Amino acid sequence: MTAKHFINGTWYAAAKGGEIDVINPANERVFATIAAGTAEDVDRAVAAAKTAGQGAWVRTTGRERAVVLRAIASGLEAEQQALAELEVRDNGKPLPEALGDISDTIYCFNLYATYAEELDAKQDQPIAVPDDRFKTTVKYVPAGVAGLIVPWNYPLLMAAWKVAPALAAGCTLVLKPSEFTSLTALELARICETAGVPPGVVNVVTGYGAEAGARLSTHPDVRKLAFTGSIPTGIAVATAAAREIKSVSLELGGKSPIVVFDDADLEQVIEWVMFGIFWNQGQVCSATSRLIVQSGIAGRLVERLAEEAKKITIGDGMDAGVLLGPLVSRPQYDKVMGYIEVGKREASLVSGGQRPAGFNAGYFVEPTIFTGVAPEARIWKEEIFGPVLAVASFKTEEEALALANNTEFGLAAAVMTSDLDRAARIADRFEAGVVWINCSQPNFLEPPWGGMKKSGVGRELGTWGLMNFLEPKQITRYLSPDPWGWYLKG
Ligand code: NAD
Repeated sequence: MTAKHFINGTWYAAAKGGEIDVINPANERVFATIAAGTAEDVDRAVAAAKTAGQGAWVRTTGRERAVVLRAIASGLEAEQQALAELEVRDNGKPLPEALGDISDTIYCFNLYATYAEELDAKQDQPIAVPDDRFKTTVKYVPAGVAGLIVPWNYPLLMAAWKVAPALAAGCTLVLKPSEFTSLTALELARICETAGVPPGVVNVVTGYGAEAGARLSTHPDVRKLAFTGSIPTGIAVATAAAREIKSVSLELGGKSPIVVFDDADLEQVIEWVMFGIFWNQGQVCSATSRLIVQSGIAGRLVERLAEEAKKITIGDGMDAGVLLGPLVSRPQYDKVMGYIEVGKREASLVSGGQRPAGFNAGYFVEPTIFTGVAPEARIWKEEIFGPVLAVASFKTEEEALALANNTEFGLAAAVMTSDLDRAARIADRFEAGVVWINCSQPNFLEPPWGGMKKSGVGRELGTWGLMNFLEPKQITRYLSPDPWGWYLKG
């Protein structure tokens, strides 16, 4: 398969002819290529989006856009199995998880169809002002050409979190997927076209971040940048946005804590801790990668987690019963293995820590647990983005909160306890944008999603996600026949 950019309703090879190999992380074999986009390709896509942004699409009502968004959802639904299988080959995740991602993607387009309809009712609503000679209303207008840059851990879903609200708002867009996982984003573009999205409204340019991504961030005609990825890239994107005074939202990394008290139900704790760090091979921005456990339960919990981690079936995501697939790429594998070596020097390894036996190819890493991790350890402070859990223990609630909040990140945090007053207290004091009580990771698309501190700027999902792509415009009318009098009366 040789995939091309999707620009203005047409498939284009890279302007400079470059291609990037697409590797199946389960066997390290090349099974496709994508276009290596450069500034020329991005410029062509932004020009198409700008032209489309002056056309009929921006003048559609929310109801009209909702019809298109629901048609995209139906198109995705018709191809759910094929899309999930493509995601497995591209990203490595187990098929049931990929199927879950595609259903969430479908849900996302249907949800933003509803929000698009609701937007019509919010248009031109009066705002009370303290002078009855004036009438002020607010109109929500599309923010213009949106540049969307997404990572590889949920390739299609992360794209949907931005494409669906951007379309609901009436924006035109250029999407730059990760160079490791671009294939389902290109399928989405095809499905959008079939669903009736006009040419130039949705464009996808593939390629490396330093070239295609960087040009999209700096392009003067891109008015809104929505980025999901790592902190260093987020800084580059925000800096580029600042130079052109673009609106920017950033969904960045995390090192989220899960605080477990002695009174929590042990079996529940095991389930959520395992899910919180090993789901999607630990490549989850909100993964609860720091377990902070009260000393009374710590020994028993770590022993049980180590037992359970050893039972996890590792393999090709296409094989039935597999719970842990390969990591996405060679660089990610090397990064995670590097952190495991650091961890062996900094803390005690109680489970995993190797490439699993019998796997000669593929980026597989055993589910790994370290205990006795000190707050200054790198594996405690830095985002590993792999199946590696760091455990520390505490005695008092204050100590637990201090450990939990002592981080530059602030994406998510979880607490496990049977004392609901305590849970509420802790939830209030967690410095995180997403808090879970007696669970870890469940995510709905209606509430806001995003981080405090260095985990991001702004919120996605829900109506907060829609507002990212709208400019509220105030329109104030003078109603009185009398002169206002500031100038005339002096
Ligand atoms: P990354 O920052 O390396 O890349 C993200 C995207 O940015 C890719 O499309 C990449 O090509 C592009 N990019 C790279 N350099 C660029 C540049 N100079 N200018 C513009 N674009 C550039 O991140 P990744 O490794 O793909 O993803 C993992 C990171 O994403 C983790 O830190 C994870 O926590 C984060 N993440 C956050 C959320 C969230 O909701 N907060 C969700 C998923 C992933």
